[in-house]
Amino acid sequence: MSETGAAAIVLPPLREVIARHGLSANKALGQNFLLDLNLTGRIARAAGALDQGSVIEVGPGPGGLTRALLDHGAREVIVIERDRRFLPVLAEIAAAYPGRLQIVEGDALKVDAARLGTAPRRIVANLPYNVATPLLMDWLEAGSAFAGLTLMFQKEVADRLVAQPRSKDYGRLAIAAQWRAEVRRLFDIPPRAFTPPPKVTSTVVQLVPRPQPLYPADPAMLERITTAAFGQRRKMLRQSLRQISPLAEEVLLAAGIAPTARGEELSIEQFCALARAFKNR
Ligand code: SAM
Repeated sequence: MSETGAAAIVLPPLREVIARHGLSANKALGQNFLLDLNLTGRIARAAGALDQGSVIEVGPGPGGLTRALLDHGAREVIVIERDRRFLPVLAEIAAAYPGRLQIVEGDALKVDAARLGTAPRRIVANLPYNVATPLLMDWLEAGSAFAGLTLMFQKEVADRLVAQPRSKDYGRLAIAAQWRAEVRRLFDIPPRAFTPPPKVTSTVVQLVPRPQPLYPADPAMLERITTAAFGQRRKMLRQSLRQISPLAEEVLLAAGIAPTARGEELSIEQFCALARAFKNR
């Protein structure tokens, strides 16, 4: 435990707390708890300078990662949790770190995290995939409202976030994320580190939002184009982009892109050029 983050009251081990409160994992909410202190500490250290601004943790559950963030010197942690069963346990953690933990009960999809706490805001989360991906898109759209996002994903999703052109994982997710943020894969966490163990390996990913997206483009048009281009991965762009305009071939040529190319061959810069060319039609 670091000196800056020390708890005022020593909390019992997480497994004991979970047993005492009868907190079995709810599969419908994608609950897999990370109880390994080495790993929660590693995530907290990766999250950046915790002693400034606010750390917003989404889906704290029984609070393993929450404790690690506080122990590693977080000035203020704001947690958003939708499962009410965890509120008493989180209140115990708040009492052990006076004035440093704020609890928000609710669905993170309905909370504007950019308005919580004070800048620099850092988001940390271990969330189910079906929640994490839409939340990531919202947080990226908020531009530089967040100093950093340290998030756990299924390894397969992390592969898609960091993918480069001409690879099988390159697609909408890579383009949307890398256009707006610097994306780095940090480390993998095996299923056995969780209780209960999930079926797949997890990966911690760090995203640092860019002050401006990499290249100018209308976000809605870029999204339409990548959806069309990767919805039919094997098709040439002159065909897959016809659903956006019957003049797709002409637009491709105007943007300096071979109409026979496939989506996975195009860089983010080229996709942005295409978005601008379609927008000008
Ligand atoms: N962070 C804890 C850990 O690492 O042990 C728990 C992780 S568990 C995979 C996901 C947590 O997210 C659960 O506590 C679940 O209730 C919560 N959760 C799921 N969907 C949520 C949502 N839409 N808004 C807020 N919390 C959510």
